[in-house]
Amino acid sequence: MANLGYIQVVRHCNHFCGFCSNPTTPYTHTLASMQVLVDDFVRRGYFGVILTGGEPTLHPELPEIAAYAARQGLHVRMITNGSRLADPAFARAMAAAGLQIVHVSVYSVRPEVEARLRGCEGTLDRAFAAIDNALGLGVEVNINCVINRHNADHLDDNVRYFLKEHPRVRHFVWNNLDPSMGRAEVNQDQFTPRLADFEASLGRAMRLLHRGGRSFRVEKVPLCYMGEFAWASTETRKIVKGEERIVHFLDAKQTVRQTDWEHRYAPGCAACSLRPICGGLFDRGDAYDPAELAPQFVDPEPVVRAILEDPRDPSFSRVSLAQWQAAFSDRARGTGPQGQVADGPAVGERSPQGERLYAARRRAEARKAEALGVAMERPERDEG
Ligand code: SF4
Repeated sequence: MANLGYIQVVRHCNHFCGFCSNPTTPYTHTLASMQVLVDDFVRRGYFGVILTGGEPTLHPELPEIAAYAARQGLHVRMITNGSRLADPAFARAMAAAGLQIVHVSVYSVRPEVEARLRGCEGTLDRAFAAIDNALGLGVEVNINCVINRHNADHLDDNVRYFLKEHPRVRHFVWNNLDPSMGRAEVNQDQFTPRLADFEASLGRAMRLLHRGGRSFRVEKVPLCYMGEFAWASTETRKIVKGEERIVHFLDAKQTVRQTDWEHRYAPGCAACSLRPICGGLFDRGDAYDPAELAPQFVDPEPVVRAILEDPRDPSFSRVSLAQWQAAFSDRARGTGPQGQVADGPAVGERSPQGERLYAARRRAEARKAEALGVAMERPERDEG
């Protein structure tokens, strides 16, 4: 199985998205504290590691931890806003370290929308330069996009732009906004879309990519909003394949193992034929409306087959539908809710210097928040 682990390398960022779900904390990592987390993934037999943040490229030892993970046999990926990867020397250092896939985050190819969402100007050109640098160095590029109220109506315009201007990009990932944490939680009224807001444009975007021979995944979107592309749902693929993921949060949550979801379903979901393989509505609060969910009455088998028989999936292994059905019913009885890992290693540290940096960054971010008209996230609770 292709289990992927996440390490939040830093939690600060040089952009200021009003819906950031993982904003600044007082915790910091050294190379040694990150190596412990890489070793933990290796011990668990994980396929790869995703270096994320905050903005991971702001950690001065990012190339070193990428190289260490690659030497331990992990497939190394990174999620970035592209600002530093636009620098050719840094891009070369990451490629030489063994970075195999970079997810460059672009919310909208409309400059005014991107600037509004990023909280700063001029980010698009650097993201595009990052894409070109990575591709030129043989690093595969995926485009990551958080679906929110401001880009919900033109997800397909973004795809059209990339197909025309960056045709070597082969894979796209959409994440529906997570309204349960960070600034996303306190700015729900500004950024959380209704499911109906993006249904049409997401459908057009997926059809464009499918016709163009590209691959894609969609996170936190219930299957009743995925049309004929239910097989592209990240949650559904994890449910079908029985995958887990571990996130080493650089905050008080520390290590969280996700084998199941605390997603919401509507009462009508009980009658839905896709319910056993649907992740439902990602929402630990009341930001999304369960009344938008619509039970489906279609055969789930083609969805399962499309996932099991996808040769491009790194965890692909030939399993018959009958074998899968037997294993799936066993697994369905055994899964539990997500939760903190009792034997997880310590994630980062809280030092006096880290606390001072955190206080200074929060003061600077509070000024940005006021200028942009967004609320600041609740401060990190003190576990000490
Ligand atoms: S109705 Fe409920 S179970 Fe069915 S696809 Fe929608 S969210 Fe999933």
